[in-house]
Amino acid sequence: MPTVSPARPFDTPERAQFRDTVERFIETEIAPYANDWDEQGDFPWALHEKAGALGLFGFGIEESHGGLGFDDALMRFDCGVAMGYAGVGGVNASLFSRGIMTGPIQHLASEDQKRDALTAIVSGKAGGALAMTEPSGGSDLARLKTKAVRDHGDWLISGEKTFITGGMKAAWFVVGARTGGEGFGGVSLFLVPSDAPGFSRTAITNKMGWWASDTATLHFDECRVPASAQLGQEGACLLAIMDNFNYERLSLSAGCLGMARRCLDDAIGYAQQRETFGKPLIKHQAIRHKIADMSARIDALDAYLQMIAWRINRAREDGGPMPAAELAKVKVLASKTAEFCAGEAMQILGGAGYLRGCAVERIYREVKVMAIGGGSEEIMRDLAVKQMGL
Ligand SMILES: Cc1cc2nc3c(=O)[nH]c(=O)nc-3n(C[C@H](O)[C@H](O)[C@H](O)COP(=O)(O)OP(=O)(O)OC[C@H]3O[C@@H](n4cnc5c(N)ncnc54)[C@H](O)[C@@H]3O)c2cc1C
Repeated sequence: MPTVSPARPFDTPERAQFRDTVERFIETEIAPYANDWDEQGDFPWALHEKAGALGLFGFGIEESHGGLGFDDALMRFDCGVAMGYAGVGGVNASLFSRGIMTGPIQHLASEDQKRDALTAIVSGKAGGALAMTEPSGGSDLARLKTKAVRDHGDWLISGEKTFITGGMKAAWFVVGARTGGEGFGGVSLFLVPSDAPGFSRTAITNKMGWWASDTATLHFDECRVPASAQLGQEGACLLAIMDNFNYERLSLSAGCLGMARRCLDDAIGYAQQRETFGKPLIKHQAIRHKIADMSARIDALDAYLQMIAWRINRAREDGGPMPAAELAKVKVLASKTAEFCAGEAMQILGGAGYLRGCAVERIYREVKVMAIGGGSEEIMRDLAVKQMGL
């Protein structure tokens, strides 16, 4: 675990205990296998069930559907940091991407849908994925092309979704499809099971990173689902997934913080034992400056993120607005920090860092997706300024 002990002004005994549980889970169930799973491009489904049993998928989900019955952005933050620190983004992505689809089910689905899908997904017995991005684009979701039309009381969905994390193994999908006119107001959400007639999927196997994660292109060929598959009101897609995007940005940013901290710690560990020019690498000024720069950026990101997580909790308790501008800004800061620290750590490790099998090398390959998925850096900057009222 980290050599740098961060300040935790908002800690409680419950949060400390939760953090211990997550760190122990990672230490025993993930860390020893991280490299093998990444090389194999897969990991055992049992890990989903173990994480589910610990409640890691249960934030904001009712207890009656297997959830924790409460939410806590600071616990979500701790979980994200610990998973990022594990340095195996593919496992992290496949386990936790269900979190971006359970929210809309929790808020919009009927009791029957929740009993069928939510309980299984939250327990880790079944997988779930959010399917929004299409081959024609992911940033401008208001222009998505997948269509759903009514047919004898059912819906027929036609179109394609791509880059869907967890998509090859998921049993359930939350799918955005156009039921009305142009723009976001014409988009509705559907809960689609993987055995729906007209649904098929193809694996994407040539990713730069996240090798342990199953990623899919989904094909909807007049895919038939009952009228009850629609989540919430027709055309109410944007509102339904807004909250979700905020939590996704918090978790992705926390993951970046964990990745950056792992890079720093591994770089320090290597620089302490490696000797060049007759003294440990850590004693060379150029290396010390890298450590100082990495550490300062990590501390700043850590403090900013903890403050934002605290503000999310306050907003939830008071019914106030989410700190959406800060979440957009911090997501950019987080991916930039992870990218910087991965680059500097690779440099400190020298040739050793260039070899497959070490966390820094994996993180170096995996930082790029953090700047793209969950809202790219460009889109986040635009959103931040818009949320600032400008
Ligand atoms: C490994 C991986 C996993 C993913 N998992 C999922 C998932 O589970 N579910 C899902 O729905 N999606 C998923 N995505 C898709 C992801 O959300 C999209 O890749 C992302 O939203 C960007 O969309 P795009 O790739 O189509 O790029 P585009 O929208 O085509 O944009 C291309 C580039 O142009 C930039 N750009 C676009 N518009 C502007 C503008 N107005 N001004 C300046 N720059 C702009 C973008 O930032 C980007 O850098 C995943 C992607 C990856 C790579």
